Amino acid sequence: MVLAASLLCSTATPSAWGAWVGDGEDLMGTRVSVELWHEDEAQGQALVQRVLAEYRRIDASMSTYKADSEISMINRTAAFGPVVAGEELFNLISRSVELSTLSAGAFDITYESVGYLYDFRVRRRPSQSEIDIRLAAIDYRHIVLDPAAGTVAFAHPEVRINLGGIAKGYAVERGAALLQAAGVTHALLNAGGDTRVLGDRRGQPWIVGIRHPRAADQVVTRLPLVDEAISTSGDYERFFEDAGRRYHHIINPMTGSPTEGILSVTVIGPDATLTDGLSTTLFVLGVERGLEFIRTLPEYEAIIVDAAGRLSYSDGLAPPAD
Ligand code: ADP
Ligand code: MG
Repeated sequence: MVLAASLLCSTATPSAWGAWVGDGEDLMGTRVSVELWHEDEAQGQALVQRVLAEYRRIDASMSTYKADSEISMINRTAAFGPVVAGEELFNLISRSVELSTLSAGAFDITYESVGYLYDFRVRRRPSQSEIDIRLAAIDYRHIVLDPAAGTVAFAHPEVRINLGGIAKGYAVERGAALLQAAGVTHALLNAGGDTRVLGDRRGQPWIVGIRHPRAADQVVTRLPLVDEAISTSGDYERFFEDAGRRYHHIINPMTGSPTEGILSVTVIGPDATLTDGLSTTLFVLGVERGLEFIRTLPEYEAIIVDAAGRLSYSDGLAPPAD
């Protein structure tokens, strides 16, 4: 979860020159919100509601928790043959597969083939034999995409996909695009660990804090952002502990078990869909390979907190002076 400086306290003071407006709700298993500046407060409020509706629309199509979502329908049927997917879902699956190729399978939405057996709310995890049976199904190359037909098929009977590592970033990116098209020049959009800012905070950069992975009320660092996206993945978002080990929600596709060695990864860059996907990717790659990987993407930077609490910064980010 990224802690953004909230401006909602100032919404009660409408002015003749514009106002900050905002709203939030519980969605996508987290808190989602939007704040924006608009010359006309009523129009601003209407745009806030349009963004929340956009989040809801994406969640309705892409949530594996909803049996009637498009992705659930694909998970039920794509192993039997090609299924037509809506263009938006098809495109996000395609982008996910591209990130799998780039990251040599560290990011892999078929992690869900084993991942669905974890339920962090009830401390449920698969046994090693349950993992072993399904591990071969985790492989993005089982996803067969036909762009001309717009279809998705799974080339292995046990494959399931889950866009949890990328869909929240996609949602805030879509929200930002909607606001930009409507002429909004100052906004902050958030969905759990994923934040997208448009412009600045009217004269100053947005200040976004990266929370301490083991203390929700502390930040490890603060970053000034203008027209940028920032995503943090943490082993504290969804987890339980068992016999001294933390079972959290980011799965190493090679083992079917939660990754070890990193507490949180933050990625900053122009596109929230990619910062979201990359934060999950670096979690799996680990500190060294993660920093090496982010170096190949010049517009993206990363801050990693490892198991010892040490911070590592990618080349483009100087550690803070204090
Ligand atoms: P957060 O939910 O903390 O913001 P992420 O963006 O890293 O963090 O998303 C974590 C989610 O990513 C998990 O809940 C799961 O749905 C999905 N996921 C887990 N492991 C992988 C993986 N190896 N590749 C792609 N997605 C994954
Ligand atoms: Mg992510």
